[in-house]
Amino acid sequence: MTFLDKTARSFFLVEIVKGFWLTLKYFFKPKVTINYPFEKNAISPRFRGEHALRRYPNGEERCIACKLCEAICPALAITIEAEARDDGSRRTTRYDIDMTKCIYCGLCQEACPVDAIVEGPNFEFATETREELYYDKDKLLENGERWEAQIAANLKMDAPYR
Ligand code: SF4
Ligand code: SF4
Repeated sequence: MTFLDKTARSFFLVEIVKGFWLTLKYFFKPKVTINYPFEKNAISPRFRGEHALRRYPNGEERCIACKLCEAICPALAITIEAEARDDGSRRTTRYDIDMTKCIYCGLCQEACPVDAIVEGPNFEFATETREELYYDKDKLLENGERWEAQIAANLKMDAPYR
């Protein structure tokens, strides 16, 4: 650019006018951003969010304490202890997930033979302390109750592709 060009562009405020024009052009176009958290995008049924332990419709826990999820977890984030009930069924007495270790790979969900442990649709579970991210069985079952309708719908939607 010659000295004359530069001077003319500065004198006529060409860059500023171009900037304003660009703003004006996009002012009337549909917005590409959303007003989070008041608006949210749709998420895939395969989205791997916060973990939840599910129950059957009669209230019985799905988990049969086979420990496959614990064995497959590459981050060693899951800790399970189990014992037999009086009726002979096997259930967990402890089911912890250290969410600070979890890498959200979804292998626990894939390994589970009874769709008990799942990664639900919730992605809003940030905390202020690390301790709050050590999930125990009660917390996971509570998540299951809270998100069951959406989790069941997502699993159903994804079933034909499995
Ligand atoms: S999502 Fe992956 S890392 Fe997280 S608990 Fe499950 S298996 Fe472990
Ligand atoms: S959550 Fe599923 S894979 Fe893990 S112990 Fe229970 S039944 Fe087995």
